[in-house]
Amino acid sequence: MNTDKRKVVLIGTGMVGMSFAYALVNQGGICNELVLIDVNKERANGEAMDLNHGLAFAKSNMRIYAGDYKDCKDADIVVIAAGVAQREGETRLDLLQRNTEVFRSIISPVVKSGFDGIFLVATNPVDIMTRVTYELSRFGASRVIGTGTSLDTARLRYLLGDYFTVDPKNIHAYVIGEHGDSEFVPFSQVMLATKSVSEILADEKNDYKIEDMQSIEEQVRTSAYKIIKAKRATYYGIGMAITRIIKAILGDENSVLTVSAKLCGEYDSKNVFIGVPCIIGRNGVKEIVELSLTNEEKEKFQNSKTILDDSFNGLNL
Ligand code: NAD
Repeated sequence: MNTDKRKVVLIGTGMVGMSFAYALVNQGGICNELVLIDVNKERANGEAMDLNHGLAFAKSNMRIYAGDYKDCKDADIVVIAAGVAQREGETRLDLLQRNTEVFRSIISPVVKSGFDGIFLVATNPVDIMTRVTYELSRFGASRVIGTGTSLDTARLRYLLGDYFTVDPKNIHAYVIGEHGDSEFVPFSQVMLATKSVSEILADEKNDYKIEDMQSIEEQVRTSAYKIIKAKRATYYGIGMAITRIIKAILGDENSVLTVSAKLCGEYDSKNVFIGVPCIIGRNGVKEIVELSLTNEEKEKFQNSKTILDDSFNGLNL
């Protein structure tokens, strides 16, 4: 008998949710049960059928089905990728308020099911929606995680790897702050293997320039806009980022990922959920890694934090 059942429930079977589900099935061996829930039940059913038909080609078997909130009871992780799109003339805060109502209709039945696992939120604006999940669920902070700047960090590493012609896995760099316009790269902390990039840039023997770093940061910050302009939405990258976080949790990896986590005094901040490097394991956020930021970077972080606090405080919870 398999006593090591790893069960994930996905709420919101749109483009982001299903890109995640597709990555999960294809990477294989991460979990053995996946439940799909959507307000549009027909869609969830169709997606479950479609994925099941591909299982014969997958690396490992999985039980996949369209389910209901009661299925959350014994789940390890509930992923939320449900959301509504912005209407014409609607402000960001109006959208936030409507997504909060969507979350009210989700979190309450999940908690009522007896769910005792970890929430992983991808719905935008992800830092605020993660904080809303925390407030509505009243779960411990370590068990409420947002995808934060995990995708932005992957984009950064890809671009830096390309620039320095080095495998992105050997680039140690993070995008931190809001998953949005105020996010930034603390370049004082960027390392190529164990060598600081600031040192590499200062070395006149090579052609690398500080302006190129600023351009890379700008490319990371604006890439979602470019993808949305070209193909209406972004979903493969975030689907793979969700899969990576789930793998870290279910595998008890203690991997460092830039997720949206609640600060309790770290970075001179409290209560806000914001993208920071965290050690992620079986119980969610094990520890927040506090980077040694320069004064300028500290200011950028506080600016991002204030933007998130102001948005959250404008909500009618
Ligand atoms: P989508 O419209 O394709 O899918 C949304 C799904 O949510 C739909 O299937 C819809 O039926 C469902 N839904 C709506 N209300 C619901 C409810 N009350 N209960 C259950 N399901 C409900 O949208 P998408 O492209 O998949 O995007 C989903 C979210 O992910 C958006 O908020 C988007 O901005 C966000 N996103 C986040 C990141 C990130 O880095 N965190 C990246 C890309 C997109």
